[in-house]
Amino acid sequence: MPHVTMYTTTVCAFCLRAKSLLGQKGVEWEEINLDEHPERRKEMIQKADGRRTVPQIFVNGRGLGGYDDICALDKEGKLDSILEMDPEKIAPPITAHYRVLILGSGPAGLTAAIYAARANLNPVLVDGNEPGGQLTITTEVENYPGYADGVQGPAMMDDFRKQAERFGTQFIQGQVEKVDLSNRPFTVCLEKGDCFTVDALIVATGASAKWLGIESETRLRNRGVSACATCDGFFFRGKPLAVVGGGDTAMEEALFLTNFATKVSVIHRRDSLRASKVMQQRGEKNEKIEFVWNSVVEEVLGNEKDGVTGLKLRNIKNNEVSTLPVEGMFVAIGHVPNTQIFKGQLEMDDLGYIKVNSGSTYSSVEGVFVSGDAADSVYRQAVTAAGTGCMAAIDAERWLAIQEMN
Ligand SMILES: Cc1cc2nc3c(=O)[nH]c(=O)nc-3n(C[C@H](O)[C@H](O)[C@H](O)COP(=O)(O)OP(=O)(O)OC[C@H]3O[C@@H](n4cnc5c(N)ncnc54)[C@H](O)[C@@H]3O)c2cc1C
Repeated sequence: MPHVTMYTTTVCAFCLRAKSLLGQKGVEWEEINLDEHPERRKEMIQKADGRRTVPQIFVNGRGLGGYDDICALDKEGKLDSILEMDPEKIAPPITAHYRVLILGSGPAGLTAAIYAARANLNPVLVDGNEPGGQLTITTEVENYPGYADGVQGPAMMDDFRKQAERFGTQFIQGQVEKVDLSNRPFTVCLEKGDCFTVDALIVATGASAKWLGIESETRLRNRGVSACATCDGFFFRGKPLAVVGGGDTAMEEALFLTNFATKVSVIHRRDSLRASKVMQQRGEKNEKIEFVWNSVVEEVLGNEKDGVTGLKLRNIKNNEVSTLPVEGMFVAIGHVPNTQIFKGQLEMDDLGYIKVNSGSTYSSVEGVFVSGDAADSVYRQAVTAAGTGCMAAIDAERWLAIQEMN
């Protein structure tokens, strides 16, 4: 068995995802939690060649990088041999038929699983690359009914998952790469090559964070560029930071980062925030937060050794270019629905949100039900996602009953 070491922090969605992936492979690892051992932070940065994000994973001392890196290695089929897995123990691709398959393990997918399992539909749920969904990258959730004192996002999703497990939901680790909805039963294939046929499909693939899309952002990702303040804020204690964006997520990230940073500059392309009133007020009241209006990031300055050293900004009103000295940039510019695999098969709006019949979760293809943020460009909340997850399971159950009667 190789010696696997993983540096983590306590609230870190990508650490949970890395543990879930390695756990599925039957690998054991030594965990070094940097919240509990802050004195080992320098050691990790040195070993990881300057990287300042968690998790960082090492196999026999060789750095593999973070969660995205091990996912990429897995997709290329290289991870199993790096982990020295016995080829005879690597399962061949499977094929199977399921009555109800749910795609996504956020609030929508897990709620659909709870309802479908309690209706004896024996649901099978595919986790996707973000087990637990978007809420695993936030800290306090204060508005989900039933948690009077608030709850940490990852802990809440753990509760959802345990409840779905209690009624017998079967979980499959993996990301769906291809679907064929042209014939029933539908066909759903994972990246790893496993393919399933299904009678009813519940789509709960949610949404993902957007990036700016500039070269320097990609190059310096994990070296000061991040999209998850709760995961990586810890590494920037006593440093000036920037958050890019003007919505609720940007305000939430900026407020959280004030726990560590000397100053947080919020860079926004407009001259006012899009965030809700309450979040705006909290941001404006915080002395550590300053706003840089009408500005866009042209380049992230820095190099792979020193990390981020500043941002080259352009004022879009007068085209003036300036440099903002910061040591980290957190991108919080919204989300795109994870619906690309359904393009051309399910009706969508211009932004890629899947269209459903009003007041239901029926999509344009009979037998495919859509819930949560994948079909919701308006509310995008955990409670609405859970609500439509419940609707999707009930819609699927009733639709299956009619099919089976005929
Ligand atoms: C930082 C942050 C803070 C937030 N705070 C709050 C809050 O306080 N209160 C609140 O109500 N809401 C909050 N939200 C919004 C809330 O998280 C979302 O509305 C909710 O998670 C949407 O749930 P969902 O199940 O539709 O999708 P998601 O949570 O996005 O989950 C999508 C799931 O689909 C899976 N998936 C994606 N593609 C595939 C594929 N191809 N194959 C298989 N699986 C796939 C993913 O792995 C993931 O498990 C917050 C969001 C963010 C980003």
